[in-house]
Amino acid sequence: MSSDEEYDIEVVDKSKEWADFLSKKYKQELRTIGREFPYQRSLIINYETLQKFGRSGVKLADELLGYPNKVFAEVRDALRTHNLLARKDAHEIIPRVNIRFINLPRKTLVRDIRSDQLNTFVSVDGIIRKTTEVRPRLVEAVFRCPAGHMTIREQSYGRFVEPDSCGMADCTQKKLELIPMRSKFIDAEKIRIQETPEGLRGGEQPQTLDVDVTDDLAGLAAPGDRVVINGILKSIQRVTMGAKSTIFDIYLECNSIEFGEKEFEEVNITEEDEAAILELSKDPNLYRKIAHSIAPTIYGNDEVKEAVSLQLFSGIAKEMPDGSTLRGDIHILLVGDPGIAKSQLLRYVVKLSPRGIYTSGKSATSAGLTAAAVKDEFGDGRWTLEAGALVLADMGVAAVDEMDKMQKDDRSSLHEAMEQQTISIAKAGITATLKTRCALLGAANPKLGRFDEYVGISEQINMPPSLLSRFDLIFIMTDKPEKQRDEAIAQHILKAHSVGELIMQHRKHPIEGVDEDYITKELAPVTPEIDPVMFRKYIAYAKRNSFPIITQEAREALVDYYMKLRNLASPDKPVPVTARQLEALVRLAEASARTRLGNSIERDDAIRVIKIVDNCLRKVAYD
Ligand code: ADP
Ligand code: MG
Repeated sequence: MSSDEEYDIEVVDKSKEWADFLSKKYKQELRTIGREFPYQRSLIINYETLQKFGRSGVKLADELLGYPNKVFAEVRDALRTHNLLARKDAHEIIPRVNIRFINLPRKTLVRDIRSDQLNTFVSVDGIIRKTTEVRPRLVEAVFRCPAGHMTIREQSYGRFVEPDSCGMADCTQKKLELIPMRSKFIDAEKIRIQETPEGLRGGEQPQTLDVDVTDDLAGLAAPGDRVVINGILKSIQRVTMGAKSTIFDIYLECNSIEFGEKEFEEVNITEEDEAAILELSKDPNLYRKIAHSIAPTIYGNDEVKEAVSLQLFSGIAKEMPDGSTLRGDIHILLVGDPGIAKSQLLRYVVKLSPRGIYTSGKSATSAGLTAAAVKDEFGDGRWTLEAGALVLADMGVAAVDEMDKMQKDDRSSLHEAMEQQTISIAKAGITATLKTRCALLGAANPKLGRFDEYVGISEQINMPPSLLSRFDLIFIMTDKPEKQRDEAIAQHILKAHSVGELIMQHRKHPIEGVDEDYITKELAPVTPEIDPVMFRKYIAYAKRNSFPIITQEAREALVDYYMKLRNLASPDKPVPVTARQLEALVRLAEASARTRLGNSIERDDAIRVIKIVDNCLRKVAYD
């Protein structure tokens, strides 16, 4: 039964209007379906095209949102009565043609879905978190009673309904048997989408929605994909300990999937923004301003902040003549004593970065940091492929805290995820390669609480040297008491607190002539010099428009330094100096040039990044 029947709606046959629309706008597509069915069996209608189709188009489009099942029936009716598929057996195949709609103007956030949207057509965007294997699902069950009568029962998502007795009049048989051979099945897959990080206000946990995907759409989406899913919002009664509850769970009956282009940032840059960006790029204090706009509430750590700013701009991914690719993403690891604002820095960076994901190495999701195939109740016995943080952060930054506490499986899968930027899963019926084109910002606490300069870092943070060598930069942050610095930190922390307090007070009892901007500006050092919204736009603009090329002078400086490193290195150092370091230098220099929207990597960029790398290596590799 279609759920629309529960509504009291005007019964006007719209099939003529549909036929008019379809024969004018979708003639080609219908002909293809008519010719190539069942290989082509979905008619994909653009909502905007429909809406722009005169007065009737507006009405039809509107009706789809409120009464989708009625609309699907009318479209099929139009196909049938006006013979739009141009086939003799049209009436047999029309029930199997999928009517799909894409490009809806309004999107609903998962967290905003309410009961009044049940049974309506909605459009939701998100990242795919889990997908199950594609398996046949019963849609029309045929039962036979001992006397040989057949009874048909339509089946819906999630539960199996059996008749209590034979459907034949006068037959009193109660023991019915399902006949799979006579029943109808459809390919089905269950997926779970999660809200996109962009839509979340700082620190909120993303909410999820389960989606029932069927027929030719099953198996198309992979974990980590950015999608818009259009479909009918449905409810299903919850059953707790065998008893039916009055609480219903919701799911989306998928009608169409639109795949987002992850390569292009959603950040919207206006002409005014562009002018402001170009102006900022010429600022003589650009580098300082940028570094000071990263976690301004954290005192000091200027080198780390400078490195993180380079990470946000990132190097340039390259395709080699032999088809292999070189990553452009810069991986950074912060190792050090507890209580020195590592976690806080990670959280801040996630907020600044497009597609930033924060997670902890010890977090207990079954997908871990990369991805996993599991068999749990989500899939109702099917294998499920689930994306972890690095897949969800594809094209963004993955901040992984407490990396020293990560699982053994994660440690081994990280090698591939960090360098090849893919993760391959082959388990049971699932073989998949998911993309992890993200920059990793990791933090680790030494095993014994404090960092011991005389013990190798690999040992202290429980990570093999091979994994450590995947990081472009490793910072050792120690917390040695030092009077002047400690006092400065204390002042800084208190200042940050007082700005917060003042703002709270001002909100309760506004002070005349003073606004929040004034308070934050007056108490500078703790407020970012570049506003976070502008900062994100600046990064997005740089990544879209700046592809600097290395100059001869910069190349020489980098090679010279690398040769010097190789000479100093000895094979028993905790992090051996390999060609990876040279690649890291190039990436960092690219990011440095990008920071000022440069076209070329100058000697100054090289010098700047050599200084950063050298400071790090001094502590890690050849101290
Ligand atoms: P970690 O992850 O390194 O153990 P946290 O990020 O949890 O440390 O920081 C602990 C607390 O100390 C935070 O509230 C942080 O604001 C404060 N803190 C530590 N160092 C600084 C600093 N340099 N500037 C400002 N706050 C700091
Ligand atoms: Mg921490």
